[in-house]
Formats: sequence, C-alpha cells, structure tokens
Amino acid sequence: MGRIPDDMVNQLREGTPIEDLIGEYIPLRKAGSAFKALCPFHDEKTPSFNVNPRMGIFKCFGCGAGGDAIKFLMQHEGMSFREALDILANRQGVDLSRYETEVGDAPGPSAREKNQEVNLFAARFYWSALRGGDGNRARSYLKERGISQEALDTFRVGFAPARWDALCQAARPKGFSPRDLVEAGLAIQREDGSGYYDRFRDRVMFPILGAEGPTVGFGGRSLPDSDARHATAKYVNSPDTPSFKKGRVLYGFHQGREAIRSERRVLVTEGYFDVIALWQNGIRNAVAPLGTALTAGHLRALRAHADEIVFVFDSDKAGQAASERAGDMAGRLMGLAGAPDRLVAGDVLRENFIDRKGLGAVRLKVMDLPDGEDVDDVLRAGGVDLIRSLLDKAEGLLEHTVNAAIGGLVPGAGQADKLSAIRSLLPVLGASHQSVREQYFTLLEDRLGIPYPTLDSSVRRMLAENAREAPRRDSMAPQLLGGRVERSRLEMDAARMLLSRPALAARGAVTDSMFLDSAIREIIGAMISAEAKGVRLHPSDLSDRMTDPSAAALVLELAAAEAPYEDIEAEFSDCMSRLHERLRRRREESILKELEEVRRTEGEDSPAARRLLEKKNALLHERQKDAAAR
Ligand SMILES: [Zn+2]
Repeated sequence: MGRIPDDMVNQLREGTPIEDLIGEYIPLRKAGSAFKALCPFHDEKTPSFNVNPRMGIFKCFGCGAGGDAIKFLMQHEGMSFREALDILANRQGVDLSRYETEVGDAPGPSAREKNQEVNLFAARFYWSALRGGDGNRARSYLKERGISQEALDTFRVGFAPARWDALCQAARPKGFSPRDLVEAGLAIQREDGSGYYDRFRDRVMFPILGAEGPTVGFGGRSLPDSDARHATAKYVNSPDTPSFKKGRVLYGFHQGREAIRSERRVLVTEGYFDVIALWQNGIRNAVAPLGTALTAGHLRALRAHADEIVFVFDSDKAGQAASERAGDMAGRLMGLAGAPDRLVAGDVLRENFIDRKGLGAVRLKVMDLPDGEDVDDVLRAGGVDLIRSLLDKAEGLLEHTVNAAIGGLVPGAGQADKLSAIRSLLPVLGASHQSVREQYFTLLEDRLGIPYPTLDSSVRRMLAENAREAPRRDSMAPQLLGGRVERSRLEMDAARMLLSRPALAARGAVTDSMFLDSAIREIIGAMISAEAKGVRLHPSDLSDRMTDPSAAALVLELAAAEAPYEDIEAEFSDCMSRLHERLRRRREESILKELEEVRRTEGEDSPAARRLLEKKNALLHERQKDAAAR
C-alpha cells in the first residue's frame, strides 16, 4: 500500500466537472463560460461565488473561499482530503482501496473517520437494544405512536438503555475508548474526572445521517415513564462535532433526497416523528431541523433541490415561534431578490416567488395545522388526504406572515391599531430588500386599506426608531482577501494568461523579475519553475504552494476569472512586450535619477556620470530599435 500518487489525484480532479459536483450542493447559474452562485460559505445578497469549469476552480470574491473540487467537498461537507477523494473516485468508478487511507504522513483514520466509526457502532448498538430485551418499553411506546416496523428499519431507529454506562461498556471491547465516545458526543466525562457516562439514556434514538449517508449524530427522545435522572429533557441531540453541524444537517434529508428532487418540493416539519409519520403515509419529501431553529444554511441546502419549500408548523406556541423565525429567515432570503420587475407583478406576488437573480425561483409556503394539533394528530384524524388538502391550501409565506401580523385586529380597528400590528413585521421588513418590502406594502394596503405612502413612511419611521434603540449588529461584512490591494492590470493579465496556458511559462520570454507585485512575482516564479521541471500544477495546488497568503488567494481569483482567449499567443506576446517596455522605462528612470545625483555630487563630466549617460543612451537605442521592429 502506498499513498495516492499525484497523478491519480489529478486524474480524479480532471475527471469530475467541477460545475456538476458543486451544482449538486448549490444552484449554479451560467454566466458566460463560467457559473455564478450565492456563496454557501457566507451570507450574501448578490452572487460573488464563481465556478470556472475550464480551470476546475471555485472562488468566492466576497469571503475568499476557493479551490478545486476536493477543497469544495472538504470545506462544504467538512470532509478530510481522503474522504473527498473517495467521493470523486466513486463518481468515476475508481477503486482507491489499494492506497493508504490517509494521504501523506498521518497513519490511521482521521478524527472525522473515527467519529463516523464510533457513530456507526453506536447506531448498531442502539438498533439491537431496541430489538432486544432492553427495548420492551421503547417498543411499546413506538407502537403506541403508530410507528411501523418498516419505518423503524428505514430510519434505523434504536434505543439507548436506561443505564449510565451501557454504551461505554459495549464500546470498550470494540476498541473504542471513552474519549472516542466523548469526541463523538456520545459520552460525557464526570465533573470530578472520575469516569464517563452515556449522554443518551432511556431514550428512543434517531440516527441522523449526513447528506452522503453515514451517521453523523443522534437525536434521542425520552420515554413517557423515564426516570427524571435520565429524562433531563424530552429531546436531546448530539452536540456539534467536526462531522456534525446542526445548522447544516436536516433529519430525513438523506432518506428524502430522491423524493425531494423528483417532486421539487420539500416539507419542513418540526421533528423526527413528523418526518417518520409522513414517510409511512407515503409523503417522503419531509425533513426536520434538529431542535427548532432553522438556519440559512438549511434553506440554502434545500433550495438546491426544491422549487417549493413548505413549512409545516404546529399551531402551538413553539410552532408559532419557529414559524416567526422562519419568517425572519425568509425575509432575509427574500432580501436576495434582485429582479424587481418580476417581483412586483401582482400574480407573482401572490405566488410568493422569490427570484434570486436568475438562480431559479423558490416558493416559500406555510402549511397551518388545525389548532392544537400536530402532524401525527392530523394523520390520525384524516389520514394522508387531509394532509394533502392542507398542503393545497398552504399560503405563501409573505401572505402568511402578513395574516399572522394582522390576524388579531378586531373588525373596524383604527389606523393606529393597524399600524401597531404592523410592528411585528418589522424584523422581516427591516431585513428585506426594497422590492420585497414593496410586495408587503401592496399586500398590507390591500388588506388594511392603509395607503401605500402612509405605510412606507410609517415603516421607515419605525425602523429608524428600532435602529436607534438597538444598534444594528455588524452586517458581517465579508472579508476581501486578495481583491483589496491595488494591483497592476498588466501584471494581472500576464498571470491570468499563464494560468490559462501554463506552457507559455516555458517560453523564456517571461521571468519573475519582470513583475513588481510581490504576490504576482511569487505566482509567476512558481509557475516558471514547475514548467521547467515538466510539472503541470493545478491552480489549487499552485495556490497551496504560495507562502504569501495574498498570493494564494490571488491565484484562485485569477483562475476563477479566467475566460477563453481569442488568440492567447498574440495577446501574451503583446503583454510581454509591454512588460518589457515598462521594465526598460523604469530602468531609464532610475538611471536618470542616479545620473542627476552623480552630476550633483561628482560633477557634470565625472567618469561615473559619463558611464551612466552611456547606459541611458544604450537603453534609448534599444527602445528605438524595438519600436522600429514593431
Ligand atoms: Zn463567500
């Protein structure tokens, strides 16, 4: 067994169209010969995330994230280098098992792989506990809740026994230390340091799968008759670990991905049981966030697969709060709207289309459950037909948000009451793009009979008051890496052409000393020496070799902005001669300066002055000869 050779890495990288790979995680829009998207690594309203298929590079000009397909998987999915390579290899039917698991020096599994092994072991342990003698109470609880055997198997539901160290004990003979369990979030160290105990006890266990399939964490629900020492909370989730980020993972997403993609619609429910109950009733495109908070990361992940996101919320208080949060989030998403001409059209407004600068539109809807009922109640009362009819009646989020805000108004309420009801919409309105705010105003004008200009000025005033009361948090201004520095266009052009066609570096016409910008000089120098050795560096590898971080960022920026040239040879030699010319002019300038200095200190006719004058004339002569040749 040896490490994976660079050739193999290159082959895997080149065999994977980067736009296909990234397109599976976020929606991409074609822009010339490249693709654009809203960056998945930072919140933004206009797309600054670029994918350049020719160079095999992604780069965000907002936050600076960038690299090749492997880097994308590592950064977006939190994978190790080897795990990302395995994904590429699987797509191309290449078998990497004859190579060491870790490329380079680290023998043995990465922390992430260890986590996965531990989680897999735990999932099996909980699985058999549910099906064994320990699981009697849990089995009857699940039966009571009407969960079918098929659903239990599909979702790999298990049970954590009502003991302090059931998992810790079972793990030891399998070679997992208590520390391994702690790192996977499955065990907790006692405060006095005397030992470890299981995090999940006397709970029904729901393994949470990452998008790619492996178990990344767990959710546990206590039994109705659980001992208070074990039932610390009704629901307990694994803490975030390197492979488990609750803000990114959705329960049921892995199982539902196919159905979501084929129906282009996803139901966002509140919990494990909702997802499972819907699933066993044939509705297989439901997911749930872990806990109640829905993040922008979740919505970003979903809109890559669905055109319609339906929030299914209980009508109780917690559900209401979740819905408000979703509304807040939606306001931010709607703030991404960039095509007001499409958005203000009335019918589009009713449909709650959210156009994201041509990135496709997603409809956000809210499905209200009858008062005091949850998904399970509705399914019991009216089966899947009732769910489907409620789904048909789901309101657009915009309308729903407005209705929720003004629903409490008594008939004949005065303008002051109406305006104060609008106050609850302020978070959404404040976060929304002007064009979305206009949609709200149109809707409110229609519902409340308050003239649009009054709404506009009142809301502006309220927002201003709010801003004074609570100073806005920093708007997370994205950091610009290489882009801030003023760089020479000419040098940038030359570097971009070299990246586009590295063979140009072998011409000899180009040397790194022609470049004054130290970052560009480092890039060019590395390219020339690689080319001299016959090594063709992928821009991502080139970037990794840079010692200057701004050079590393610049490589990716240049590669992302690369576009096909009409006649790169001609453009490159033109660029070279301009660089030469610039170099010569600078030399002339410095000689003139020196000459001036020497004349002042040593006299007009000193030997040093004469030597410099000769040098200057030689340069002038050279320039004239070149100009004549052109
Ligand atoms: Zn970004």
